[in-house]
Amino acid sequence: MTDTPDTNSAPPPTADAAELQELLPGIHAWVQPDGTWWVNNAGAVAGDDGVLVIDTCATAARTRRFLDAVDTATGGAPVRLAVNTHQHGDHTYGNSLLPSTTVIVGHSRMREGLQADPIIDGCPPLWNPVPDWGPVARRLPDISAGSALTLHVAGRRIELLHPGRPAHTTGDLIAWLPEERVLFSGDLVFAGLTPLVFMGSVDGALAAVDWLESLQPDVVVPGHGPVLTGTGITRVLDEHRRYYRLILDTAQDGLSRGLTPLQAARQVDLGEFTGWADAERIVLNLHRVYADHAGRDLDVIAAFGNAIAWLGRPMHTSV
Ligand SMILES: [Zn+2]
Repeated sequence: MTDTPDTNSAPPPTADAAELQELLPGIHAWVQPDGTWWVNNAGAVAGDDGVLVIDTCATAARTRRFLDAVDTATGGAPVRLAVNTHQHGDHTYGNSLLPSTTVIVGHSRMREGLQADPIIDGCPPLWNPVPDWGPVARRLPDISAGSALTLHVAGRRIELLHPGRPAHTTGDLIAWLPEERVLFSGDLVFAGLTPLVFMGSVDGALAAVDWLESLQPDVVVPGHGPVLTGTGITRVLDEHRRYYRLILDTAQDGLSRGLTPLQAARQVDLGEFTGWADAERIVLNLHRVYADHAGRDLDVIAAFGNAIAWLGRPMHTSV
């Protein structure tokens, strides 16, 4: 493995670049540049009677920074509730840093996924540098949600909604504030970075774009990348549609020509998406289509091995 930095990219942003943005009074987005592998966004909805936190972060240090910022912004109001938008570690490993009294909500399949997740116990050298989560421990949701659950915090209504089928993962939830038209999308939206759907479904993720658009949000806090408003929302959702169709077309072509996912990925022209971070996800996403086409489980080890082969080195993270 090499420690040689990519000379074409800017120096990795420090964790200090993370910022709590107040979208509306009491509604906050925690935005962490650069949004690549393991560097997620989170959120908080706060009032006098307490705080709802939407997701935690991958490492103890990043989660502490997030919770400290929320504590300062809310005058120390207690974090009564938390929701995990899905099972991935960048959104859940920090759960154990929440107060013991915080009640955590997640989709039932998100809960199963985190329970079975081996990466929290030690990250394999698929990324460079290999992430160190710090003192985190697996902490599962106290409440399993199904298709929908409504929370009431600080006089605000927060609807937790499942897209109805696998999309980014099998257990996705969005947090939607219908009065304020603010959407915390989790990883159903990656703003300006390569979407990842290998643990969900490309067809499902494509359908979920229409579903998100039908809510007509004014503000979208994506799972990764900057907060979106106005035409920025339309632009990013349209990018997702085109990217997912590129995956489906590439997989169809590869299957018809007898190519492996890696061979198909090596031949595709990523076009407008070439400059997106984490481009190697094309390999992981193609593995998902191939697995679904064959009616079998995705081989995670093979998929990650192929992604690294495509890239020629371990994947980048700045977590
Ligand atoms: Zn994710």
